[in-house]
This record gives sequence, structure tokens and C-alpha cells, in this order.
Amino acid sequence: MENIIIIGGGPSGLTAAIYTSRADLKPLMIEGYQAGGQLMLTTEVENFPGYPEGVMGPDMMNDLRKQAERFGTRFLTKDVTKVDFSKRPFVVQVGDENGERFEAKAVIISTGASARLIGLPNEKRLMGKGVTTCATCDGAFFRNMEVSLVGGGDSALEEANFLTRFCSKVTIIHRRDQLRASKIMQDRALKNPKISFIWDTVVEDVLGEKEVQALKLKNLKTGETSEFKTAGLFVAIGHEPNTQLFKGVIDMDENGYIKTRDGMKTNIAGVFACGDVQDHVYRQAITAAGSGCQAAIDAERYLESAGHS
Ligand code: NAP
Repeated sequence: MENIIIIGGGPSGLTAAIYTSRADLKPLMIEGYQAGGQLMLTTEVENFPGYPEGVMGPDMMNDLRKQAERFGTRFLTKDVTKVDFSKRPFVVQVGDENGERFEAKAVIISTGASARLIGLPNEKRLMGKGVTTCATCDGAFFRNMEVSLVGGGDSALEEANFLTRFCSKVTIIHRRDQLRASKIMQDRALKNPKISFIWDTVVEDVLGEKEVQALKLKNLKTGETSEFKTAGLFVAIGHEPNTQLFKGVIDMDENGYIKTRDGMKTNIAGVFACGDVQDHVYRQAITAAGSGCQAAIDAERYLESAGHS
């Protein structure tokens, strides 16, 4: 029987692991095959306090993991496929129907969020063949090529700036004529000579047989459609919480984010949530880490309370 199982190994889960292992609770972290979360897909993190020169996202996750390990966190690199929170102890299962089952007195959910897709007819077919949601992972494949990127938030501009290291030109296609991104990111992108914008326009489809060759665009103001030649389509339009596993079990908002209250408590006593899986507002590494600390302290107090320690 485990004291605590932490599901998901991004900054929130790993911070919860550091705190609960330092409290001698010997947590089991089931980190999933995409361990490290979204920071594994990012480049330089400039806004995490304590790194005056910035830090590479994967390096920071590696450090957090080592820190959690140092205090006794055990890691299992498998995806959780089923949970039963209807009785105690809680049950967490990995793998297929016959997969390993773990029992726990408390669970911390930190499964994060994943990149959203536009929903184009050929988007999934051409995924990995020119369509991608990760500039960090795939940017280098587009060296000296002209690529397109959809979105107008911080992620979109961060990815566009990053892509200009490799690509000869990056065209940002945005559905409005104003960007959602923060001022500093806007300034950086607007000043970058390799970045250009197509405003008030949506991508209706991505075209190409074996790989991306062009986009079908529609100008929302004029209704005009056109074909736009491009070697790649980077989709950077936000994220969706990874909460499929908990549907009908844990209370969520209308967008599928877990509802937390009174700290990081969910509607089930002994089950806590932290990080992007319950936060669609701030979504920063630092706020995720902060909420991981809160979830750990809430879980410690829950276990200390009568009947659980
Ligand atoms: P976001 O702020 O929600 O922006 C999503 C963008 O995609 C918006 O511009 C939106 O357009 C557009 N969009 C959404 N659905 C679309 C669709 N179906 N078709 C076309 N365009 C679509 O998401 P994000 O950029 O991933 O950022 C999320 C949070 O993380 C934000 O709080 C952000 O500040 C933060 N973040 C910070 C940093 C940093 O500080 N370094 C880096 C990355 C992210 P509209 O504007 O028209 O809605």
C-alpha cells in the first residue's frame, strides 16, 4: 500500500514529489511515457525565478526529477490507464486490463495539459509529415524552409521566434487582427525580420499527399479563400487538460479542467490536483510548481489526520 501516488511528472507533480518525499512519505510517481510534461517540449525558460541566465526546459525537469529522487521518490515510467477512487484505498492501474494495480491512501493528479489541434480535415493525416505542435522538437527539420504557424498567444510567438533560428521565413496566421500574447513577446516577434503575419485569417485545410505543400486559407473579413505554399504547419493554439481518465469521477469545469478548492483538494477527500490539469489561467512552470507544493502539503495533512496516518 502506497502513502501517495502522484500521477504525472511535470513541474507540479515533481514539486509535489520533492515535498512529499522530504516529508518521508516515500511517494510513488507514475510519470507517464511523456515524463517531464510540456517543459520537455520547450527551449529556454527565462521567467523561472532563480535562473538569471535562463534554463533549458528539459534541463530544469531533469534537475527537478533528480531532486525528487534524492529524497526517496520512486518513479514508474508508465501511463496510468484506470483509476478507482470510489473506495479506499484508492486504486491506480497502469497498462492494459491485466496491468499492474497499485493501492494508495492518497493521490495527487498532475497530468497537465496537451496541445490543441485545429480540427482540419487533413491535419492528423499529415501530422509528423509537416504538421506539428512542437517547434522545439521539429523546428530543425525545416532548416532554410518557409513555414507557417497558427495562433496569436505567447506560445505561438515563442515558437515563431524559436523557428527563425532554422527557417528562412515564418508566417503567423491569426484569426484576428490583434495578438493575445504579452507585450514583450509581441515586440520581439514584430521586430523579427523573418516573421510576417497574415491577419483575420483561418486555415481551412492543410494540403499535400505525402507531406505538407500548402494551406487553404480563408480571410474572415472578405470571405476570400486562397492557397498558401508552405513546407510546414506549426499549430500553437493552446492546450487541453489531460483529464480523460477522471471523467465522471472528479468534478471538472465545462472545459474539462479539474476543479480544486480549499487549496488543491478535489471533490474526493484524499485526491488532490495541481498544475495545468486544474489551471487554465496562469499555466506557468512557476505556478504549476507552487500548486504542486500546495497539493503535497494538503496531502500530508490529510494523511496525518485521524485514520490515515
Ligand atoms: P492562449 O493564450 O490561449 O492562445 C491561444 C491562441 O490561439 C489565441 O491567439 C487564439 O486566438 C488562437 N486560437 C485558439 N483556437 C484557435 C483555432 N481553433 N484556430 C485558430 N486560432 C486559434 O494559449 P497559449 O499561447 O498556449 O498560452 C497559454 C498560457 O501560457 C498563457 O497564459 C500564456 O501567457 C502562457 N505562456 C507563457 C509563455 C511565456 O511567458 N514565456 C510562453 C507560452 C505560454 P484568439 O486570440 O483569437 O483567441
